[in-house]
Amino acid sequence: MKCALVTGGSRGIGKAICLKMAEMGYYVLVNYKSNEAEAAATLSQIRMNGGDGELLPFDVSSKDQVKRLLGGWIEANPEKYIEILVNNAGIREDSLLFYMTDEQWENVLKSNLDPVFYITRLVLNGMLLKKYGRIVNIVSLSGLKGLPGQTNYSAAKAGVIGATKALAQEVGRHGITVNAVAPGLIKTDMTEDMEENEMKKLIPVRRFGLPEEVAHAVGFLASRESAYITAEVLSINGGLYS
Ligand code: NDP
Repeated sequence: MKCALVTGGSRGIGKAICLKMAEMGYYVLVNYKSNEAEAAATLSQIRMNGGDGELLPFDVSSKDQVKRLLGGWIEANPEKYIEILVNNAGIREDSLLFYMTDEQWENVLKSNLDPVFYITRLVLNGMLLKKYGRIVNIVSLSGLKGLPGQTNYSAAKAGVIGATKALAQEVGRHGITVNAVAPGLIKTDMTEDMEENEMKKLIPVRRFGLPEEVAHAVGFLASRESAYITAEVLSINGGLYS
């Protein structure tokens, strides 16, 4: 059975990606950290649309949980193979660098950058054996341009972009592509505290994006037909920055 693992699939962009993966025919592994009700709602919606999947909770920022819970799942399910990995889970904890605490720096690196290493390393084995795989990392405009107040988040996302480009070159000959999608401002819980009416004036298309519009790009990169696209960063930002 071919599976798609989406980290942070309970809400926002990750939820839209889960629904897209199900639409593409994948059995979806819906990861989340603590919001079980929202994760269960994602899975119900997948099933209502005629797809299937299961919940796979673990804290992506804990390498022990990744090894124990994701590693355990892989071992216990030899008939299921993760063909698509979307490293989507992430957090921001904004502050000017001068005022940034150790915790704000460490939390953001631990939740956005480290999981890409620990999770991808586990999942890669199956892809290498099958000689096929699609890895899509959700980064950010912040990792391309750098945004004031987000030195931690910009550094983490820029780190993921570097890792994406390096890994793509390591595994390209094994039928595995590795790409990144860089959203701009997308309507989710993460951007709830932002002044949309003011900020949208800066965006050429004059609105925040929708999670489904990011999921569309992920679906494109995750498709079989995108076999010759790798080491790319695709911006989904309404023209805000390129
Ligand atoms: P949300 O805050 O809406 O949702 C975050 C999701 O990630 C939830 O499903 C949450 O699970 C999960 N999550 C957070 N931390 C962990 C963790 N430690 N372990 C497992 N799951 C975790 O975020 P968005 O949908 O807005 O963002 C998704 C991705 O897109 C992130 O990587 C973000 O950096 C990136 N992005 C978002 C932009 C935006 O404008 N929204 C812009 C650019 C990039 P739970 O429900 O259990 O808390």
